[in-house]
Amino acid sequence: MEKKAELYAGKAKSVYATDEDDKLILRFRNDTSAFDGEKMEQLERKGMVNNKFNAFIMRKLEEAGVETHQIELLSDEESLVKKLDMIPIECVVRNIATGSIVRRLGVEDGMDLDPPTFEFFLKNDELHDPMVNDYHIRTFGWASEEEVAAMKELTFKVNGILKQLFLDAGMLLVDYKLEFGRYQGRIVLGDEFTPDGCRLWDKDTRNKLDKDRFRQGLGGVVEAYEEVAHRLGVPLE
Ligand code: 5GP
Repeated sequence: MEKKAELYAGKAKSVYATDEDDKLILRFRNDTSAFDGEKMEQLERKGMVNNKFNAFIMRKLEEAGVETHQIELLSDEESLVKKLDMIPIECVVRNIATGSIVRRLGVEDGMDLDPPTFEFFLKNDELHDPMVNDYHIRTFGWASEEEVAAMKELTFKVNGILKQLFLDAGMLLVDYKLEFGRYQGRIVLGDEFTPDGCRLWDKDTRNKLDKDRFRQGLGGVVEAYEEVAHRLGVPLE
């Protein structure tokens, strides 16, 4: 597999073409951003930890019947993935209220959400990723009615799989964001599942083990990600 030109550099990952039209290489960088890119830092080892963590979670999801873009790990910081036609929508499920839902709705931080809630956001930093609904998504042509239904169903299916996986390792999956794309007529999970895009709390102490440590300046960011990987049995070396 030959790595070709860089196609796109996001805030934490870079995307490269390959010599095969339907495959891309993702490089997980140490760059860490918050608040739509306003806060930016380099965190040693984060690219490697997230690449390996993501590969582990994507494999668990595949084994449970969720198609993902992940093909294989190529190196510490790189993975080979299927080239998806990405849908510019973020799908968020919340099991516990914290973060933006607390600010928006004034609900109690830390309350259990039963049933879990679901939200769509438009991927647009300039607009600060505004919340949108399924009518917006269809009206403005970001995705079809069937694709909206598939994204919602798959995002909840992921919740069933990962909530238990993390709980078995002593963690609460508080909330997470997924992104999907089209591949050969199917809706496939793309982007990443790492502590950069989800919230994980220790089950007993409710200590934060995710990017909120960076957002809130708590320190020990990569150490927390490594702790999560260690608890799940993700091989990092
Ligand atoms: P909130 O809406 O509370 O800020 O975020 C909900 C969940 O989605 C959190 O787990 C958060 O990490 C994730 N999330 C929402 N938007 C983004 C985003 O633009 N980038 C990343 N990496 N995660 C996001």
